[in-house]
Amino acid sequence: MDANALWQNVKEELKISVSQTTYQGMIAQTCLLGIKDNIATIGCPNPYLRDLIENRYYALIKEALDRQTKKKNSLVFTIDNRSQAPQKNLKKSLGPLFKKNPSTKNLSPNPAFNLLPNYNFNTFVVGSANNFAHAAAQAIVNNPGQTYNPFFIWGGVGVGKTHLIHAIGNAIAQKYPDYKILYVSAETFTNELVSALQQKTITKFKNKYRQCDCLLIDDIQFIAGKEYSQEEFFHTFNTLYLSGRQIVLTSDRKPEEIPKVEDRLISRFMGGLTVDIQPPDYEMRLAILKQKAKEKKFSLPEEVIAFLAETVESNIRELEGALFRLIIKAQASHQPVDLEFAQNFFGSLKKRTRKVTPKTIISRTAKHFSFKTKDLCGKSRKAELVTARHIAIYLLRKDLDLPLMKIGDLLGGRDHTSVMYAIEKIEREYSNNQSLRGEITQIRNSLQV
Ligand code: ADP
Ligand code: MG
Repeated sequence: MDANALWQNVKEELKISVSQTTYQGMIAQTCLLGIKDNIATIGCPNPYLRDLIENRYYALIKEALDRQTKKKNSLVFTIDNRSQAPQKNLKKSLGPLFKKNPSTKNLSPNPAFNLLPNYNFNTFVVGSANNFAHAAAQAIVNNPGQTYNPFFIWGGVGVGKTHLIHAIGNAIAQKYPDYKILYVSAETFTNELVSALQQKTITKFKNKYRQCDCLLIDDIQFIAGKEYSQEEFFHTFNTLYLSGRQIVLTSDRKPEEIPKVEDRLISRFMGGLTVDIQPPDYEMRLAILKQKAKEKKFSLPEEVIAFLAETVESNIRELEGALFRLIIKAQASHQPVDLEFAQNFFGSLKKRTRKVTPKTIISRTAKHFSFKTKDLCGKSRKAELVTARHIAIYLLRKDLDLPLMKIGDLLGGRDHTSVMYAIEKIEREYSNNQSLRGEITQIRNSLQV
């Protein structure tokens, strides 16, 4: 069955499940751009509708699509700009702007690109916190400029944004040795712009940025409040975008939450694919520690690795820092690193003893969504309330490991099958729905205070 016919069937199903206004205003305006490796890319007419549809109807659309394809799919929502100037294949016909002499081809990236060779995909550990960002990054490497443009990665401190943006650059450089790739932090971009203005070398500056095949800008939030940088970046962006060159941006927050940036830039940022990276969960922290210890050729007992993964929860940079400090200390003191050694060393870093109770989870979740606790435990099936309830159930299970029956009792006497259903639903959505992950992270953070 072709994509159009399949999507028509999905829409017919959805027509029955949603109101007519929702159907006409949202679902009817989507299209299926394709399914590859069980990832369905769904086109939406603009960023606003894309976010709305993704946040509210992800599960519903997925269920209908799974039924129609008899497969488990993940969904990616993107802007469908097929009605705009054709982007596809434009890059191919233009070719890279800078052709190198074939004899000078070198498989390792040109140092002039500013890429750190160690920040590559081989050293990038993938887990539930970053698997979506990782998959999208690889899709970009396979088809720079044509899959998701721009690609916008956001997340807190030390979660791997810089590592991933370099990995994209390194992989593109390997795959397309002719491409001119440019990695720069937004701060450097701004500083270079200022000195180009002072030294009257602005044309050189413009050429440098507008004539690359792939522009990677780290920490774009830095241009907040800097009008001239924004103006220059806007034109650079347009020049590259319109000729199908790949743009990758990272930021410490979502595009729409970056303050003091012009709307026209924000809407450009949101015009491709936006993904988040979350702090690593326990499993991922273990995997990262193992990988980093291996890189340092230092062997550590499992129990020490587990201790570190439990102790340092915040982000990968801290985790890595703690491991390296431990290794240095061990080497200096010529002692074997066992659990006692690690515990002594990290005595000051002891895990915060938090006392999260089932009651706090329920009340904080209710509060987060501006509901009353009694509504969360009540009978209403209003969509937003149901989602909040599912999240509370999920947290009670994941963070306190409560039995299903007990969770059912706490939430007003629900039976264990509906508790089970709620947990599975949130688990399914967790890795693909960044807005859901954001909500859960915020509630978890609120439990700590
Ligand atoms: P951010 O840019 O988000 O602040 P970085 O990319 O600088 O974070 O990452 C901080 C440190 O953690 C770096 O040394 C990086 O190599 C490491 N790191 C981050 N994510 C991963 C990962 N998924 N696998 C392995 N190392 C990682
Ligand atoms: Mg960074």
